[in-house]
Amino acid sequence: MDTTPLFLRPALHEKIWGGTRLRDLYGYAIPSETTGECWGISAHPNGPAVIKNGPLAGKTLAEVWASDRELFDQYPGDNFPLLTKILDARTDLSVQVHPDDAYAREKEQVPFGKTECWYIIDCDEGSEIVYGHKAPSHEAFRRLVDHGEWDRLLRRVKVRPGDFFYVPSGTIHAICGGCLILETQQSSDITYRVYDYDRPGADGKPRELHIEQSIEVANCPHRDPKLTYSVRQEAEAKFTELLREKYFTVSHWEIRGHADPIEKNWPFLLMSVLNGTGTLAIGDAEYPLKKGDHLVVPAAARTVAFDGQLDLIVSNPV
Ligand code: ZN
Repeated sequence: MDTTPLFLRPALHEKIWGGTRLRDLYGYAIPSETTGECWGISAHPNGPAVIKNGPLAGKTLAEVWASDRELFDQYPGDNFPLLTKILDARTDLSVQVHPDDAYAREKEQVPFGKTECWYIIDCDEGSEIVYGHKAPSHEAFRRLVDHGEWDRLLRRVKVRPGDFFYVPSGTIHAICGGCLILETQQSSDITYRVYDYDRPGADGKPRELHIEQSIEVANCPHRDPKLTYSVRQEAEAKFTELLREKYFTVSHWEIRGHADPIEKNWPFLLMSVLNGTGTLAIGDAEYPLKKGDHLVVPAAARTVAFDGQLDLIVSNPV
């Protein structure tokens, strides 16, 4: 069975809050000076990634999911489950919340709700995010929204590079200006916007809000999830598991020289290179890696090994 990783050409999205770091730092051919999102590993119809190498070159990840499921260990489901993005927030994203699977299927007729998580790649000194809220009940939440008492409602948290946040569906959140983030999420594009700072959208009009849906799906009260990190330090590599939850496992791998083969304990791997250059070895085959690469390591690869200087975010569906 073929062990060749699928290197992907990302889909890039213009956003009113976006900037130019996706070009300046990663070399992507951004469509405008306000580009907010790189959908690096995506089989979502709103931003399909295309395979760049090997016999499947030119096909989308979604097409290959449908036709070559052995690459993915016969993982069940009509749709590729995950989506990896890099977001460049020059200014604040709207305050928003996402539904869970049941709500998304019933109300939006899409296969997945949206649970997501963020690895802060970089941010300005003093950058913040909105993470959760301070209303004790749905009634209190509605009252504060109705009165526009955003400072009393929203919970702001300071962030630094290397921080990690788990954002289960139902969590009120916003990425704020200055942050560069790698997001691992369910493959969903359903967002309910509760507040957009009363600013104009791309066409000069305010963007649509979804107050009722937001109130309906918001977890009240907000509770911080308990996360457990685990770290494995080797001579020239450090493997930090950031999250092991319902939909995905997410890790940060830092290679500083050589990393011995890591045995497969995943159906298939999603890998994004945040920094550096090096090689990925699968069996006897070697593949060059560089900052900005996004790839899927197929199920037939029994081990992965590395050489070089590399920072990777690695995830897999559970
Ligand atoms: Zn979100």
